[in-house]
Order: sequence, then C-alpha cells, then structure tokens
Amino acid sequence: MDAIAVGGGLAGTAFALKLAGTGAKVMIIERTPGPHHKVCGDFLSGEARALLQHLDIDLAPLGGNPIRTLGLSDRAAEVKAPLPFEAIGLSRFRLDETLLEAAAQRGIVVVRGATVEALEDLGGEVVVRTTHSTYRAKAAALASGKHNIRGIARPSGPMVGFKLHLAPTNTARASLQGLVRLIAFPGGYAGACLVENGTLSIAWNIESKVLNAVGTSWREQSAHIARASPLFGELARDADPLWTKPLAISGLPYGFLRTATISPAIYPIGDQLAVIPSFAGDGTSLALASGIAAAQAMLNNEDARAFQHRLVARHRGQFRLVRALDRVIARPLLRRAAITLARYAPNIVTRLAGATRLNTLEI
Ligand SMILES: Cc1cc2nc3c(=O)[nH]c(=O)nc-3n(C[C@H](O)[C@H](O)[C@H](O)COP(=O)(O)OP(=O)(O)OC[C@H]3O[C@@H](n4cnc5c(N)ncnc54)[C@H](O)[C@@H]3O)c2cc1C
Repeated sequence: MDAIAVGGGLAGTAFALKLAGTGAKVMIIERTPGPHHKVCGDFLSGEARALLQHLDIDLAPLGGNPIRTLGLSDRAAEVKAPLPFEAIGLSRFRLDETLLEAAAQRGIVVVRGATVEALEDLGGEVVVRTTHSTYRAKAAALASGKHNIRGIARPSGPMVGFKLHLAPTNTARASLQGLVRLIAFPGGYAGACLVENGTLSIAWNIESKVLNAVGTSWREQSAHIARASPLFGELARDADPLWTKPLAISGLPYGFLRTATISPAIYPIGDQLAVIPSFAGDGTSLALASGIAAAQAMLNNEDARAFQHRLVARHRGQFRLVRALDRVIARPLLRRAAITLARYAPNIVTRLAGATRLNTLEI
C-alpha cells in the first residue's frame, strides 16, 4: 500500500479519497463492522459541504435538513441570527457510510471490523497491526478520532459528550425547521437540529462532576437541561428516543492541538490532530480539511512533522477565539450579557459564526 488510513471516519476517508484520486494504492482500516452512529451534533457547516463537494460526494440524495439560522439561548433569553453560510443537518450514520461506500467504489481497500492496536514507523515503512493482521505502507494517517491508539496518547479533558436521536412532536419539528439551537445549561451546553427524515438529533456536553450529581440516563439529564432551559423542555417533551440510551464519550480534550510530532510518515488528522469545542460546529470541516491536506502533503513529499507544524500553526488563531467563546458560554453572567447584547445586534453572532470557521480554501 502507498498509504493506510487508521480509522474510517471523515478524516480517514477524506485522506484516502484524495490520495486514491491520484492513482495511489490506499487502504482504510475501520474498527466498526457496519454503519454506526457517532457522538456528534450532525451539523455540517458550509465549509464541510464545500469539502465534501471537493471530494465529489453528492449530498443531495442523502436528504439532509437545510439550516440557515442559529438560535442561542440560556434560561431567560434566546437570540436568533442568520448563519453566514447554508448548513445542513445530516446524520453521521448516513454521511460516514456514504463516504466509505464511495471509497470502496473508487478502488480503496476498506477493511471493516478490524481494530488497529499498534502503529509503528520503521523508517521507510509504516507497520499497522490489527488484532488478526499486519499491514505495511509507505505512510499512514492517524484518523482514529475520539479513540487513541496505544502509545500515541492525547490528554484527557473534563467534558463528557452525549448524543441521542428522537422522534419529535410535530410542533417541535416545525419549530426547528431551518434552525440549529445551541442551549447553555449549568455544567454544559446542548445542540439540537433536524436531520434526514425529520429526526431530531441532540448532542450535549456536560462536565463530569455535574454528570455525577445529575445521573447518566436520558431522563435524568434531559430533566436537568430542561430545568435550565424551557426551550429544551419543549423540544424534549413527548419526543420519543429512538435508541435505548444515549451514546457517550468521556474525557473530551477540547482545545487540544497535537504539537508533539509522531514520526515522519505518520500524519495525525481530524480529532487526532486538533479537537475544536463542539459548539463551533466545525469539527467535521476540520476532519475533512486535515485529511485532504495530509494527502496533498504526501503527494508534495512534505513529511508528517512539517505537515503537522503547518496545520497546528494554521489552527491557532481559530482555536484562541473558540476557547474565549467557550469561557463566555461556561460563565452564566458573561453568557447572559453576551446574549442580551446579541439580541440588539444579532449580526455579532453571524460575524462570530464566520470568524470561528476554518478557512478551508487553504487546504
Ligand atoms: C458532543 C459532540 C458534538 C459534536 N457536534 C458536532 C457538530 O454538530 N458538527 C461538527 O462539525 N462537529 C461536531 N463535533 C466534532 C466532530 O464529531 C469531530 O470533530 C469529528 O467527528 C472528527 O472526525 P474524525 O474523522 O477525526 O473522527 P471520527 O469521526 O470519530 O472517526 C474516527 C473513526 O476511527 C475509528 N477507529 C477508532 N479507533 C480505531 C482503531 N483502533 N482501529 C480502527 N478504527 C478505529 C472509529 O470507529 C471511527 O469511525 C462534535 C463532537 C462532540 C463530542
């Protein structure tokens, strides 16, 4: 193989698709045996859509829900502001599977149901070991997202992420048309939007110490969020969960930028390169853009260390701004002041939504 993508999420498939388009021999190793849901708000920004188009992925037949407005709220107030781009609500279940199918159709070897346990650069050759097999390639992309490979750690953070799909009431569905809602509550925030088939997708982050006090079930957590947000209460009330329990992932290292390099031939991409706080709704763009950029780096003979330094430098400004906004969201008084200000000047929200974007045209 010329290259192996370790992980078949957005970053890994983008890397593989871009390389395969130049005739390279590429493999994707994905630990899940089939289609699966992911802890993600299912919000795809304008840049993510542009990047998917760059990879010749047609979103039109997938039936996503167009989103043009952002609603920001906490207990007392809500502000609505136009987004500076047209976004789409589309489940990761459908999106990731579409990309993996496209990969297989374009000649990429897709190995499913195999977990990579070790990744080693022997100088001139990268060895990738799964539970049952060993593969070799000139280079590899570390694209295992929220899961770490032994020996290539990321720090652990205090937030726990959850996600659930629900069948909303007709009233809740109508109230969410064209809208993504970001709802702050004590210890975290939730994002809600409609995806294909009018399904309600809710993803939320909550501090682990608050979670311990509140409880981990949907009933306990939705009651906690609804106490702080009547809007959330309206959305969740009478909505039927489509899964027996929410998906969860702990230790999210929001704000992480991988500055320590791994090796000249192992390219970290997606959440293994940088983890942007999820309220920005830009993690999917970052994953796609970094996958494409790593493929281009390989084609240009730029080694993984130089690639990594370049991308981390590019993300610093964006991350600084998003971290500052994260602090505003987390502090009730600051948050209230920001929402009050934004009610008089919603264009501030539109501008910030634009400023927190990755400039994907630089891929
Ligand atoms: C609560 C929450 C809400 C979010 N909401 C949004 C949002 O609405 N919009 C947005 O743009 N971003 C959002 N994000 C961020 C976004 O989900 C991630 O940034 C994005 O999924 C990263 O893509 P990735 O390809 O790096 O990783 P992933 O999408 O996690 O893909 C990694 C893949 O690697 C596979 N894998 C893992 N370990 C191994 C292994 N050892 N061997 C083989 N395969 C392996 C996994 O099965 C997976 O398929 C959210 C994040 C959280 C936590």
